[in-house]
Amino acid sequence: MRLVLVGPPGAGKGTQAEFIAAHLAVPKISTGDIFRANVSQGTPLGVEAKRYMDAGQLVPDEVTINMVRDRLAEPDAGDGFLLDGFPRTVPQASALDKLLADLGTALDLVMELVVDDDEVIRRLSGRRTCRGCGKIWHVEFDPTSKDNICDRCGSELFQRDDDKAETIANRLVEYAEKTAPLVDFYGAQGKLVGIDATGPVEDVTVRAIDALR
Ligand code: ADP
Ligand code: ADP
Ligand code: ADP
Repeated sequence: MRLVLVGPPGAGKGTQAEFIAAHLAVPKISTGDIFRANVSQGTPLGVEAKRYMDAGQLVPDEVTINMVRDRLAEPDAGDGFLLDGFPRTVPQASALDKLLADLGTALDLVMELVVDDDEVIRRLSGRRTCRGCGKIWHVEFDPTSKDNICDRCGSELFQRDDDKAETIANRLVEYAEKTAPLVDFYGAQGKLVGIDATGPVEDVTVRAIDALR
């Protein structure tokens, strides 16, 4: 299955992507994770992306599309994938359609995680990420993360630079202006399914997996 997750920053895309990708046995491709890996390795791509990420802005379409084109050409993405955080603009969505059409295929489904702004702010301001395995935690909703140690692999947790109040505000504006139009874009293609992404993580996963059928 070729699936896209959309939703505002903090909606729970990364959290759910892990479960959904495992359920479907497809690779999870997160453009945010790829950018962060490049930032921490100091690659030219990372140096360029960091300027935008730190400001809470989207990385330019051309850079992002080229990166995704390379990633989708890897053998593990041949039979299906779950895209988390891409596309985020209408030009990215059009480029993805074209890229898949050239490969003789197309997206099967676009799932929108629906949550309101207040919840998104609560989720982002308490988000912590494991330096070792990348698992996503929350200081308030995952009490075990209070000791700042990952319960899964024992590594240290950190707060992302872009999860600070001012940057969060910019990211929400970017979402409303540039990403929210994808809901209509994919709605018009008949590929959109929206799910209620509030409530416990496990409940959201059940709704997401139900929506795949
Ligand atoms: P979140 O999980 O909070 O939505 P991500 O980890 O997906 O954030 O993305 C972090 C940052 O990486 C974004 O704010 C943006 O700067 C950049 N980024 C990620 N995906 C894209 C994309 N598809 N287009 C442009 N920029 C992106
Ligand atoms: P590691 O193997 O240590 O996790 P990589 O150097 O493979 O790190 O980079 C992490 C991710 O970033 C990988 O998924 C890789 O495909 C992707 N990546 C790295 N550089 C580029 C690039 N220039 N264009 C596209 N994808 C890239
Ligand atoms: P996104 O990838 O959409 O930015 P994440 O998956 O990183 O979102 O989740 C943002 C924060 O919200 C994380 O700290 C995560 O632990 C937390 N979170 C995710 N889903 C839920 C949920 N259903 N209830 C409460 N907190 C959640």
